[in-house]
Amino acid sequence: MKKNQDSLQRFIFESSPVRGNLVNLSLTLQMALNKQNLPKRLRQSLGELMAASALLSATLKMNGSIVLQIQSKGALKLLVVECTSDADTPLRMRATAKWTGDIDEQQNVFDLISQGQFIITLDPKDGNQAHQGIVPLEGDNIATLLENYMLRSEQIDTRIWLCCDGETAAGMLLQKLPETMNQTTVQQDDDIWNRVGHLASTVTHDELLNLPAETLLTRLFHEEDVRLFTASNTQFYCSCSRDSVAGMLRMLGDEELQNILAEQGQIEVNCDFCNAYYAFDKVDATQFLMANVDASSPAKVH
Ligand SMILES: [Zn+2]
Repeated sequence: MKKNQDSLQRFIFESSPVRGNLVNLSLTLQMALNKQNLPKRLRQSLGELMAASALLSATLKMNGSIVLQIQSKGALKLLVVECTSDADTPLRMRATAKWTGDIDEQQNVFDLISQGQFIITLDPKDGNQAHQGIVPLEGDNIATLLENYMLRSEQIDTRIWLCCDGETAAGMLLQKLPETMNQTTVQQDDDIWNRVGHLASTVTHDELLNLPAETLLTRLFHEEDVRLFTASNTQFYCSCSRDSVAGMLRMLGDEELQNILAEQGQIEVNCDFCNAYYAFDKVDATQFLMANVDASSPAKVH
């Protein structure tokens, strides 16, 4: 049977407040990360964070972008994933990391974090304002971090399982809707949340990575009444452009831009996410980047 590669799939437990999502990222992950020379451990963590962003995007029913960032002052500086959903298009994702020194393959990424923060940014495309939440880094894995976030910020009981072998990332999310949101369909089955959570926690990395959704759900919840919805697709996409890079460079300020031009002749930038190359020579810089080119005080060039 064909695996559910590069797909996101919703499921529900019939007549109960419990719902879930499954995600599998293969080509999406490889296209997003293969142009970056990432240590294996960080590649796996980014894969898990990508899977998590897809699960959250489906859960929060976002039309727009979710950005998940882990920032720290330790050897790991940054993990960032952006996940954008629009009606009728595949879920689009990009990701990158910053770090210093050698990263040991065996090391837990959370041991590379010092004074860490988890930042989640929700940027809806419907004109509503972007919303940013910052929470301390609790737990020693990404799944626990997000479970805590969902409980604190959304007041929703959530269980998340994530894994990544470097080439494929996969994840499963279970969530208990607040009773008030779903009262008409809820029958008395107080135990279902604990029961399916217990069943789900038997899932192995191999099952998450390799089994088709139908097979996985049947294997985990064979006595439960589960309905699986049609899958939607995921893909790698980087939204960088010459305009967006110019906008970022403008924030450096005229003086800094003049210094770079004086030292290097032109301003060169590679996109952190997709490695696309952008160059601005002196004429470009004067026309597009600098706000206050004052002819009476020429830039220092010595
Ligand atoms: Zn790019």
